[in-house]
Amino acid sequence: MSSSWKARHGQLPESIDPIQLAERGAHLTGTLPLKSMPRMAPGSLAGSGDIFVDLSFERSEGEKIFLMHGILHVHLRVTCQRCLEAMDLELEASPSVILIKAGERLVQNDSDVDVLVVDKPLSLSALVEDELLLEMPMVPMHDLNQCPAKSYVARDRGVGEKGKNPFAVLGKMKKTR
Ligand SMILES: [Zn+2]
Repeated sequence: MSSSWKARHGQLPESIDPIQLAERGAHLTGTLPLKSMPRMAPGSLAGSGDIFVDLSFERSEGEKIFLMHGILHVHLRVTCQRCLEAMDLELEASPSVILIKAGERLVQNDSDVDVLVVDKPLSLSALVEDELLLEMPMVPMHDLNQCPAKSYVARDRGVGEKGKNPFAVLGKMKKTR
């Protein structure tokens, strides 16, 4: 993180009305503390850190369509589920969301685009956390070549190829019937 990001730390609002922001074409940039993300923080070995946020809010020309898009980034230190050692995990999300007011309908629905219904001000950190969790791997692991456990994985695979596949036993049982 460069010092310019640190200088802006804390300037992001806690809660936002994304449609209001879109009405005036707002741009939010800065950092949020990882500690403000109760679902993501426990998985981080470091326990602290910053999430980089760069979000633009727009109203499309002529039409009443509100958009939010941008980049979110966090560097996490997590446990590799293969070797149980620490690893770096870079998460980046590029949300692109159509915002609609509660009770209003979207005229044209492009199924590729996410829609967020806004009925009250939203927690910015919860919104950012939601988007980043979508990018989180179910089972974080080193690339196999960089994982200290790679030799064990290769050995296991070798055993399997020599016929210790448990399903081979099932095959035998079928034949004897
Ligand atoms: Zn590993």
